[in-house]
Amino acid sequence: MKALCVRSPNNIVIEERPMPSIKSPNEVLIKVKAGGICGSDVHIYHGTSSVATYPRVIGHEIVGEIVETGKDVTHFSVGSRVIMDPVISCGTCYQCRIGRSNVCGKLQVRSVHVDGGYQEYIVMPQESIYHIPENLSWEEAVMIEPFTIAEQVCSRAELSADDVVFIMGAGPVGLSILKRVKLSGATCFISDIMDIRLDFARQYGADAAINAKNVDVGEEILKLTNGTGATLVIDAVCSLRSLEQALTYVCSAGRIITLGFGKEPSAINQLSITAREIDIRGSRLHNHKFPVVIDYFASGKLQVKDMITHRYHFTEIHDALRLIENPEIENGKVVLFF
Ligand code: MN
Repeated sequence: MKALCVRSPNNIVIEERPMPSIKSPNEVLIKVKAGGICGSDVHIYHGTSSVATYPRVIGHEIVGEIVETGKDVTHFSVGSRVIMDPVISCGTCYQCRIGRSNVCGKLQVRSVHVDGGYQEYIVMPQESIYHIPENLSWEEAVMIEPFTIAEQVCSRAELSADDVVFIMGAGPVGLSILKRVKLSGATCFISDIMDIRLDFARQYGADAAINAKNVDVGEEILKLTNGTGATLVIDAVCSLRSLEQALTYVCSAGRIITLGFGKEPSAINQLSITAREIDIRGSRLHNHKFPVVIDYFASGKLQVKDMITHRYHFTEIHDALRLIENPEIENGKVVLFF
């Protein structure tokens, strides 16, 4: 079978690998059908991920069909359509015991620390897969994983309908968070420097879509919030300055959610946090969010068809990466088919 392996930074190859086989009775063999390309896959490809190791089969937004089951597999059978959970946790450390297994002390992420799903077949334990609702196509089902990220952000933020949310950045993550925030009934503003993304944001129900190239974002947020600032600021830009900026957009008693993995320090002062009792919280991966997100998809509350803009066969990975990195081409989610 074939696999897409990043052997070293900037070197991704289509490798011939032996068929994986079930080694434990609770495992299943999955024929991979489709996989989304995530910003983090692109980072690993370029060697700019601060956590990935090489060589690595990337891909963590993976759906497929079960072709074989181990003898202890109870919830799935041959033919089941499933999605892969990328998070692997130990189940016994402090974080796992308090229900925060996404930041497990021994955390491993499929596609980052161990091989992911850009391969024709993959073996998975049944605890790490979920059924895909029948009403979803393979490519729609690919979007379930990105929405677990959005769900985690909203959970960490303790989002309520009362919130006035400002999402910095309208890339795939920012837009997924926007769709999820709008489900809650909260007001939601969003910014970006690309007009096409802001157009998407307006279609998805943003109450204001701000082009940060053309206006002073701080002034705009004050105007939109009658001078108070946003109750919740989500930093989906994750640049050197974005955390500093987030602190100027948030109101007293507000929350800031960070998503970045940058190692460069930010220049923030204690006064701006203490005097206004600001909560700054990180949000990483997701913590058992597949069931709730799958419910949103199954019931039709979350519609994602309009987020997928490009499709490639997995052997065209180089074309797909070129497309994603071409600033002239506007793209949403790019999906590989297997
Ligand atoms: Mn992803």
